[in-house]
Amino acid sequence: MRKNFHLSLHHALIISLTSQVLIVVGLTSYFSWRNGQKTVEALALRLSREVTSHTQQHIDNYLNTPTLFLNINRIFADSQRLNLDKIDDLQNLFWLQAQINPQVNTIYFGSETGDFIEVEMKDAGRVAIRDSSTAPYWETYHLNEKGQKTQKIGREEYDPRQRPWYQAAINQGKLVWSPIYLFIDPPVLGITPAIPLLDNDTGQPKGVMAIDLTLNDISKFLSSLKISSSGRVFIVEKSGEIVATSTNNPLVVTTENGSKRLNSENSQDNLVRNTAQFLNSQFEQFQNINIQQQLIFKLNGDRYFVQAKNLNTHPGLDWLIVTVIPESDFMEYIRANTYTTLLLSFLAAFSSACLRAIASQWIAKSVTNLSQVAQALSSGEIRQIDEQPKIAELAVFTRCFNLIASKLQTSLHNLETVESRYKQEVVERTKSLQEDNQKLNRLAHIDSLTQIYNRYHFDLVLQQIWQQAIREKQETALIMCDVDHFKLYNDTYGHLAGDRCLYKVAQAINSAVQRGQDVATRYGGEEFAIILPNTKIIGAVRVAKKMRNTVNKLRIAHSTSTVQDYITVSCGVASFLPNATSDPQDLIKRADRALYQAKLQGRDCIVVEDRA
Ligand code: GH3
Ligand code: MG
Ligand code: MG
Repeated sequence: MRKNFHLSLHHALIISLTSQVLIVVGLTSYFSWRNGQKTVEALALRLSREVTSHTQQHIDNYLNTPTLFLNINRIFADSQRLNLDKIDDLQNLFWLQAQINPQVNTIYFGSETGDFIEVEMKDAGRVAIRDSSTAPYWETYHLNEKGQKTQKIGREEYDPRQRPWYQAAINQGKLVWSPIYLFIDPPVLGITPAIPLLDNDTGQPKGVMAIDLTLNDISKFLSSLKISSSGRVFIVEKSGEIVATSTNNPLVVTTENGSKRLNSENSQDNLVRNTAQFLNSQFEQFQNINIQQQLIFKLNGDRYFVQAKNLNTHPGLDWLIVTVIPESDFMEYIRANTYTTLLLSFLAAFSSACLRAIASQWIAKSVTNLSQVAQALSSGEIRQIDEQPKIAELAVFTRCFNLIASKLQTSLHNLETVESRYKQEVVERTKSLQEDNQKLNRLAHIDSLTQIYNRYHFDLVLQQIWQQAIREKQETALIMCDVDHFKLYNDTYGHLAGDRCLYKVAQAINSAVQRGQDVATRYGGEEFAIILPNTKIIGAVRVAKKMRNTVNKLRIAHSTSTVQDYITVSCGVASFLPNATSDPQDLIKRADRALYQAKLQGRDCIVVEDRA
């Protein structure tokens, strides 16, 4: 059978309110996290776009500078302002130009005759010269602060016409960018734009001018970019080889076969390596990456925002700028923010739960008080609620309840008073009724004139006594007594006097009957019947005599009586042992007959029934 589950009001309130708060806190934190994540995504993509654009601008500037210098020099040469045959002039020009821009710190010219002049302004100024006097060697000298060669440093065999930059420029007939290669001293990655310079008269190449650019500077620039705490930006060639990177890892590895450029997929930097591997797997090869791509990849559960953009504004250069930003760099703030939000929310939820627990306890306590008092009320006990609830509505309810209880108590009290009064009245009425009843009863059994029992009572009592006599087998005696010549008395003294006389005679007869069981009654008119239970004839005669004497002693004057000059009575006495078949009328008849005999015998006498 299903058992009814009852939850207390207190717990129901706490559970419902706390669960609401937890749901709100949970949803707030979730949406705060989701919004944070979306913001981070947008921010990271925007940042990577800006970093890429900034990088592109910088590289364009970086590559444009030497191009600009070479083109200016070409214009000077074309316009005869620069004599390419004068090594000293070239040295001076190169030195001056190196002073203008530190980017142009290695500038040189090789002629088709094998002459060579190079000014290098890296640590200290240095010049390398090859002319007819030194060929097939070049000689290197220090340069003083005025750009004049001083101390000779070294001598080395060198022919510019054999160098790749020279041959490439001659072959292309225009400015060309060399592939990235490893500089000899210092052994860093570099690139060389080279421009062929033509003879004005013949139109034949007179030589090639070039500027060495180290890629370290690009790496330095990339390192200086503020991406994110662990974001990376790197530039790769379509072959995958690294051009520059914001990490400080070397771009060249030394193997048994000599130094070798590092492929981005083998970078020592995890993020660079993984990003390169991802891009390669995504596009199969770097070559397939077009213009600009924004991607997100996952690594060990973390998300990374990647931006790859082509950089091919310079002929011969086809690079790729790659920016990668880990989501975690930003999510740390979001996470910290979410944790703070969660913590604050839970603190708020906890304090709110505490306050709600207190409030719900107030409510529950008040409601419990109310329900207990209501329960008591239902079982008839009227109680007041002593404690006033702290909740305003419940306080009003409690006041109303107390008022109702008080009114109910007053009503009940009034009801009890009314009931008690009613009961009292009922008792009094009952008593009065009983008295009235007794009176009525008495009136029914007592003769109004003589104030002794009447004929109705005689009939009733005779029947009862008769039955008792049958049961107990006892004799019952009856005296029939008649006032002598009462008609004459009335005639003589008037009817009212007759009544008074009858009263006196009745009282006298009644007083003569002293045994408690004996009953004297007015049988009718001036005739009286006296029932004597359990009385034999002798006893009955004794009572009859006493009666007669008592009446005689009254000496009520009766002047017209033929017996005496006062009122006398005649009595007939009979007794009978009744049985089941006998009738009380038999006894009456016998006594009546005896009375009749007494009258016949002259009145004022007692005659006992003739049993014969
Ligand atoms: P006897 O000696 O033969 O009995 O003669 P009596 O006159 O007494 O008998 P009778 O039967 O002739 O008359 C009875 C009278 O009693 C008649 C009646 O007027 C009178 N009487 C009966 N009842 C009352 C009563 O209540 N009041 C008065 N005043 N008289 C009564
Ligand atoms: Mg009579
Ligand atoms: Mg008479």
